Amino acid sequence: MPTRDVVIIGSGPAGLTAALYTARANLRPLLVEGFEAGGQLMLTTLVENFPGHRDGVMGPDLMGEMRAQAEKFGAEIVQGNVTAIDLCARPIAIKTADAAFLAKALIIATGASAKLLGLPAERALMGHGVSTCATCDGYFFRGHEIAVVGGGDSAMEEAVFLTKFASKVTVVHRRDTLRASKIMQDKARANPKIAWALDSEVAEITDTAKGEVTSMVLRHNKTGQRTVLPVTGVFVAIGHTPNTSLFRGQLEMDANGYIVTHDGAKTSVPGVFACGDVQDHVYRQAITAAGSGCMAALDAERYLEGVPEHLQATTTI
Ligand code: NAP
Repeated sequence: MPTRDVVIIGSGPAGLTAALYTARANLRPLLVEGFEAGGQLMLTTLVENFPGHRDGVMGPDLMGEMRAQAEKFGAEIVQGNVTAIDLCARPIAIKTADAAFLAKALIIATGASAKLLGLPAERALMGHGVSTCATCDGYFFRGHEIAVVGGGDSAMEEAVFLTKFASKVTVVHRRDTLRASKIMQDKARANPKIAWALDSEVAEITDTAKGEVTSMVLRHNKTGQRTVLPVTGVFVAIGHTPNTSLFRGQLEMDANGYIVTHDGAKTSVPGVFACGDVQDHVYRQAITAAGSGCMAALDAERYLEGVPEHLQATTTI
């Protein structure tokens, strides 16, 4: 099996930008796209904050363009999910269900996945009234009363978006203060279709016996009072978890499982680089993911050229 210069895992903005840059550096990158090809932007509609798109661009269109641009310069993109990896081996050994690859350098761009509340009914009713993606499932709730759980920008964005379909959207948040940015809060608060259940946690989602959502039970965090909210849909928007289980114990991660990077995109393992949401719990934007994908590609290129680490920061490519 030939050893590749660079293998990239993940096909969101970070992975595809790393593929574009390494391809243009003649490193013939191989990118394993993962089950959720294109990453989180495939689940979005209009992206209005990616520079260069004055009128906005649909998330899937943006990802399609990024993919085509990487392929144009010679990146090879394969379907599949990485099932095993040995970061200590040299070359690095990477396996999917039906293929194996060897790489001199690895770029991890596996992103992050939606967090769940942890209620048994939440999993049982996922796709049957419970969702983590308003843009995917909002259409099914035309004229319905539904809820969005969370108090961050995602929850506000989803709640506002869902008012296009639903007759009423109740935002359920565990505190009385929202985490979302002021502009997003203001937009949600100004929407007459949005109601608020603050200081409230979801105690129960019913009805698993019927296989559909009929209501949710809320518990008020200060009074302990339980109330029944009749809804047919529950959108969980409480943040994300980094997709790093594959690498656990093989490189340094923080307490929340995000890969720790230093001096650009370097991880604790030489020759292994990380970019995008898998190593960023602060900015988490498409543009910052793409930027860090570029950094990972340049760092991998310098590593493969054998540039000593203390000189890498001043090397121009
Ligand atoms: P987030 O900012 O981490 O907010 C998560 C929200 O869910 C918080 O309000 C949190 O409550 C709540 N939460 C977390 N775990 C919970 C649990 N177990 N039970 C109940 N509630 C729970 O995540 P996000 O909203 O997904 O945003 C992530 C990042 O993406 C942010 O930087 C955000 O600015 C950015 N973003 C930007 C845009 C935009 O600009 N268009 C859109 C979406 C996201 P607490 O507040 O009590 O912790």
